[in-house]
Formats: sequence, C-alpha cells, structure tokens
Amino acid sequence: MKLPEDFQFDFNQKRILVTGAGKGIGREIASMLHRFNAQVVALSRTEKDLQSLKEEIGCETIIADLGDPAAAQRAAEKAGKIDHLVNNAAIAILQPFLQTTVEAWDNTMAVNLRAVMIVSRVVAKQMVERGVAGSIVNVSSMASFQALHDHAAYCASKAGLDQLTAVMAVELGQHRIRVNSVNPTVVLTEMGKRAWSDPAKGGPMLARIPLRRFAECEEVASVVCFLLTDGAAMLNGLALRIDGGFLVS
Ligand code: NAP
Repeated sequence: MKLPEDFQFDFNQKRILVTGAGKGIGREIASMLHRFNAQVVALSRTEKDLQSLKEEIGCETIIADLGDPAAAQRAAEKAGKIDHLVNNAAIAILQPFLQTTVEAWDNTMAVNLRAVMIVSRVVAKQMVERGVAGSIVNVSSMASFQALHDHAAYCASKAGLDQLTAVMAVELGQHRIRVNSVNPTVVLTEMGKRAWSDPAKGGPMLARIPLRRFAECEEVASVVCFLLTDGAAMLNGLALRIDGGFLVS
C-alpha cells in the first residue's frame, strides 16, 4: 500500500548509512530517508545502481563487497561519522538441504551475518566516542522464525542475525545506542521473486498471511524509519515482524 503523501518523519540532516542500498528494500529505505531530510550514505556492490540512486537522491555512495571482511571494514571506516545505521544487504542462495554447499553457506554467513558485525562494530564505536545516541536497524526476515524449504543457510543466517541484534542491544544500551531488527515476510524484489514468484511456492505462503498479500518495500522502509526515530526511544532488542499476521495465524 502507498503511504499517505503527508506521512512524515524528520531526520534533520542526520547521516545515515544504509547497506545494500542499490536495489529492492535497501534502495527504498535510502529514498525514504532522503525524503525525510536525512543525509544518506548508500553502500552497495554494483556501481551503476549507486550511480542512479545518487542521481535520484544526491546521496554519498560507497562501493564495497561486504562478503570480504577487509572490504567491509574499510567501507564502514570510509563512511565516517554516522548517526544511524541500517544493515540491509543480504544474499539468498537457494539449495535443498541435502545439496547445501560449503561455499554457499560461507558466502551467506559472510554477507548476512559477519558483515553486520564488522560494519556495526566500526559504526557503533564511533557513535560511542562521539556520545551519539544512535539507532541501528538490522534487516532480518521471517525466515529466522520460520523454516523454509531450500533456505538452510539463509534461515540460519537470519536467526543468527536476530541473536546478534539482541547481544548488541544488551551491550550498547548503556551508551544510549538502540539495536533492533525487522523481520519482513516476502517482498517481491529481485530476491523475493527468485524464491516466491512461482505460484506453487508463493501461493501457500500467501494463503497463510491474514492480510492475503505480500509486503511492499515501502511498508518495510517505513518501519525501519520509525525504529530510527525517537518515537521508538524505548524499543531495543526487538525482532519486529512485518508479516501481515502470518505468525499468529
Ligand atoms: P535484493 O533485491 O537482492 O537487494 C539486495 C541489495 O543488497 C542489492 O543492492 C545488493 O547489491 C546488495 N548486496 C548483496 N550482497 C552484497 C554484498 N556482498 N556487498 C554489498 N552489497 C550487497 O534484496 P531485497 O529483497 O531488497 O533484500 C533486502 C533485505 O531484506 C535483505 O536483508 C533480505 O534478507 C531481507 N528480506 C527480504 C525479503 C524478500 O522477500 N525480498 C523478505 C524478508 C527479508 P548487488 O545487487 O549489487 O549484489
């Protein structure tokens, strides 16, 4: 659903780093933050995606492959002073469990989990040094609660991410830094289409969502934005489902 045109938060020139901002949900988060007056620092892997985003919203851009730990560290350092962070970049490599390869497993963990630790460590450290009461949002998935066929590495990475979120929330809370995750159901981005556009797979999933539809990028981005605001000042350590009621049905 489209947000009302007068829907508004105000990030008052805060510098916000968004990873995986080139496509899909991350791109929508970056655009929405720009609309709400943030200074967006967009990090992603494909240069032309970042170039077109820069033309649209005038953001700073950082090209990096977060699967490489040294590159992830360099990219986070290059981002400089950051007030809020959205760890959104992830990959999904679909394999039946019996055919799961070590390479796919390791790549998934490297991007979806290890990179979040590396980038957050750098960003949170400078938040602490600057005395900034920042907010960090990790884009997790319903896949951390729900076992999905062909998603062993992805589900495990997102379950790990939720627990990483919880530990960061516990340790960083004393510095007034809040850390939460959002856990969306299917969104038909490039990643979502690969897994769910076949009606044989998407149909049963859709049937279990009480709202009878998948989520839109905007509906994830608006929750992420809310978690970054002071309106969410007492929310810390959440894994917040954006699932149209799937898990309670
Ligand atoms: P997407 O359309 O595939 O976009 C992912 C973005 O992350 C792309 O810009 C991609 O850049 C970037 N990225 C991936 N690997 C990277 C790496 N190693 N280094 C730097 N950037 C990298 O995916 P999406 O659907 O928007 O997913 C965004 C987030 O939502 C992910 O955390 C995903 O797990 C989560 N999520 C998605 C769904 C869904 O159904 N779509 C549901 C629940 C949660 P390149 O294209 O250049 O690689």
